[in-house]
Amino acid sequence: MTFDRDAAVAELVALLGDAAVLGSPADLSGYERGTRYGAGRAACVARPRDAREVQQVIRWARKHELRLIAQGANTGLVAAASPDDTGNQVIVSFERMRHEIDLDVHNRTVRVGAGVLLQSLNDYLQPHGLCFPIDLGANPSIGGMIAANTGGARLMKYGDVRRNLLGLEVVLADEPATHLDFMSGLRKDNSGVDLKQLFVGTSGAFGFITSAILEVHPLPQQRACALLVPSTPERALDLLRAFELKCGELLTSFEAMSKAAMECVFRFRPQIRNPFGETVPELVILVELTSAMPASMGVDLESMLETVLTELAESDDATLADALLGRAEESWQLRHAISDSLREAGKVIAFDISVRRSSIQAFRDLMIQELKQRWPHLKVCDFGHLGDGGLHLNLVWPHDCGIEPDAAVIQEIRAFVYHVLVSQFQGSFSAEHGVGPYNSAIYQRYTASNQQHIAGSLQRLLNPDGALGTVKFGP
Ligand SMILES: Cc1cc2nc3c(=O)[nH]c(=O)nc-3n(C[C@H](O)[C@H](O)[C@H](O)COP(=O)(O)OP(=O)(O)OC[C@H]3O[C@@H](n4cnc5c(N)ncnc54)[C@H](O)[C@@H]3O)c2cc1C
Repeated sequence: MTFDRDAAVAELVALLGDAAVLGSPADLSGYERGTRYGAGRAACVARPRDAREVQQVIRWARKHELRLIAQGANTGLVAAASPDDTGNQVIVSFERMRHEIDLDVHNRTVRVGAGVLLQSLNDYLQPHGLCFPIDLGANPSIGGMIAANTGGARLMKYGDVRRNLLGLEVVLADEPATHLDFMSGLRKDNSGVDLKQLFVGTSGAFGFITSAILEVHPLPQQRACALLVPSTPERALDLLRAFELKCGELLTSFEAMSKAAMECVFRFRPQIRNPFGETVPELVILVELTSAMPASMGVDLESMLETVLTELAESDDATLADALLGRAEESWQLRHAISDSLREAGKVIAFDISVRRSSIQAFRDLMIQELKQRWPHLKVCDFGHLGDGGLHLNLVWPHDCGIEPDAAVIQEIRAFVYHVLVSQFQGSFSAEHGVGPYNSAIYQRYTASNQQHIAGSLQRLLNPDGALGTVKFGP
């Protein structure tokens, strides 16, 4: 079938109205390129307003043999929401589904449209003393967060999106555009297979998420932060253990920042100062405690943190070399400035990986040593969510190193890191960003073939013609 783009677009406009379709190159450009990776050409952008219009888009696309890609806020980091170069993929944007927010105070859940942005949801919840606590340096849509199973910096306390998902409404890209309703909002439900989980973390390749029910949490009434310098990087895990034992569920974040990563921030963001003076420590941990109880109820987090730090400093165990209490805003500013500062220092080869917490230091040590030996011009600027075993092992190929970045060498570096990670450490090649064209080959290489077979069968069942998404989970 030859595809008459203009006729197809006109038909979609007739179905859904002018505002529902974007087709000019100027209008399309903002949707065709991902935040960091992925760029191509879209046939058009469809902007449905509800699940029924999503079904109409699917039927229309099937008739014209067009493929579909869901797009939320386009902040994903694996190119999964970007079109390829064929020009026959339609981006289905959820930006006109940003208004449905319906709070059930007594169930402590909120029903949200897939396009609702995280910040808007939290702005809505705040006067009710509630929040959706998945925290990251971007403002994604709820649908995109579900499809990517977003983690973030407070995962150790609140979990990922999956842990907070109590209901889902999905439309499949099959012949009848099947509508699935899992919107129970129940915390306990063992009445069968929990099918909604199939749509979490599967990069929008199984179905379109149109609405969700999320568990929301009491807004923290207190927050206390400190920057810790472990006596050696190896002792960071002892500090983590000590904090978990002493602070229990109050411990919310335990984020690590390497010396090389912080040096980039201090160089390229001069407004952010090194809180430790002249010398940048080898490793700094940002620890955060939060509580939904006000200090007036008896537990003052600042005092608690101070006590823990004093105990650690005075103990014979010598895990702590230095600590700075307070400065929460400054500390998070430093942590969140890392990614962009690295990009100013050079070409970034990014790895979003995880290993068992007990192996994280051994993995770091091995990587730092091996990478230095093999590619001495690379800087290992790692940072990450030590509390949950997540590590952004970001490598910088500096602009000023005298060697031009080479695609073949970058491929070799990626292959080397993933090989060590998976075969020696049984780690995950995608801790929180999901699977997309950016790392599909790694998925094919390192996911067991029997698991790929099951995933592929599910994908064929739910998305029979492969019309939806940018990822193939089968072999
Ligand atoms: C500065 C920055 C910091 C970040 N930090 C973190 C972090 O700490 N932790 C973390 O986990 N991630 C992080 N991310 C990644 C990113 O924000 C998440 O992956 C995000 O949840 C994607 O949501 P989105 O709405 O932008 O989705 P998009 O980028 O638009 O899409 C992402 C995926 O979801 C699919 N999708 C979107 N909407 C739907 C829908 N309605 N139905 C079905 N599929 C859909 C897309 O097809 C695609 O596969 C960060 C990104 C940036 C830019």
